[in-house]
Amino acid sequence: MKRGIILFVCVVISVGTAWSANWNTRRNPKNVIILVGDGMGFNQVEAGSLFSGRQVFERFPVRYGCTTFSASGNGYQPDSAWASFDYLKKRATDSGAAATALASGTKTTNGAIGVGPDGDPVPNILEVAEDVGKATGVVSSVGISHATPAGFVAHSRSRGSLESIAQEMILRSRVDVIMGAGNPWFDDNGNALAEPKNFRWVGGEQVWKGLLLSGARFDLDTNGTYETTVADADGDGVPDRWELVQTRRAFRQLAAGPTPKRVLGLPQIHETLQQKRTDQRGSNLRQDYANDEPYAVPLNEKVPTLAEMTRAAINVLDNDPDGFVLMVEGGAIDWAGHANLSGRLIEEVAGFTEAIEAVVAWVDSASSWDETLVVVTADHETGYLWGPGTGFGADGAIQWNPLQGQGLRQMPAMQWNSTGHTNSLVPFFAKGRCSERFARFVDGTDPRYGQFVDNTAIFRMLTED
Ligand SMILES: [Zn+2]
Repeated sequence: MKRGIILFVCVVISVGTAWSANWNTRRNPKNVIILVGDGMGFNQVEAGSLFSGRQVFERFPVRYGCTTFSASGNGYQPDSAWASFDYLKKRATDSGAAATALASGTKTTNGAIGVGPDGDPVPNILEVAEDVGKATGVVSSVGISHATPAGFVAHSRSRGSLESIAQEMILRSRVDVIMGAGNPWFDDNGNALAEPKNFRWVGGEQVWKGLLLSGARFDLDTNGTYETTVADADGDGVPDRWELVQTRRAFRQLAAGPTPKRVLGLPQIHETLQQKRTDQRGSNLRQDYANDEPYAVPLNEKVPTLAEMTRAAINVLDNDPDGFVLMVEGGAIDWAGHANLSGRLIEEVAGFTEAIEAVVAWVDSASSWDETLVVVTADHETGYLWGPGTGFGADGAIQWNPLQGQGLRQMPAMQWNSTGHTNSLVPFFAKGRCSERFARFVDGTDPRYGQFVDNTAIFRMLTED
């Protein structure tokens, strides 16, 4: 160790409010698992159902619509939504503002991560959970510092500041498990690279080197004049190092037996587990793969599935006798939506559903619905997905047609009406402890989808008096 090193012990945001004091007296769940399908509207769920059969979360006892608008939007008026074809295309949220609302109960401007419209940090549900002694984690099928996992852990005015967001997550947060894409040394097909692609998803090259070397100390100054250390995740006064996990085999091994205290899981893939994989046709997904059936390009077997990552994360987190809060994101449902790739959409929904099945199996076998709350929802809809013939009919009237199933394992007939996000209601499913409390958060009734809550309801339900 060099002389003159200043050791920075990171100051973490401690919530320390009535929220944390109230957690146990309010008979809140021991464990909370929030699963976010990025870009997963009602029809994205329907596409998955028509292809794969009814999905386990569709039978959860609590089912609502959910509003997603951000502070950059203009709310959601049910009657307006169905009076013009373009209403839902306007002023939709981005994933950063939506993740902030889901995690912190605060509506913020598009692009913001864990800060309010004024730019000041707002505490999130993982921080509240850390304050009551729980373990916490985030798992995603896209980059670890991408908007949704970032919105549950970090605080930044700009979601584009990937490197500093990743540094906050890895170096300063008290989170115990972070898993997702962003591995610098692999491409989107999982091929090892001779030169690293970039280190932005993991907080820069020095952070990556620190993870490889010890998982605890990082020379952030290129002159080597100081170093920093990771946070004390469990409150015993000692910084807790990260165990870096990369291979599919290692993820699978983590799903059973003893585990390290803190795990940073970065599968050997660059931006996302499966959605950007290509074959000999090239890499222009929108152009070359638009008409592909699901799995026309075989799945990349080298990377873990989102379900395998979720099992691994839970097996690390459930060592904490106080319980845990975990967010799992199906992040590339949104990417398939932006690119209007129907086959990839179905694959991504199926991968997300498998992760939910893994969660349900864990609750059934190792926990119970009396101590664990599971919520499945989305941050927004992407692609304005409806059935064929949606739009203006021959008589000039607007119609929204349902997707048309063609039988199991057959691609349903569907029509994309946008390449962006929409302000559509998204589905909200809940099961387990306290799930009935969401009834108190119903904000209105939509003519098509019935009662809806808002995306701030999860944080509010768990923290408000
Ligand atoms: Zn998006």
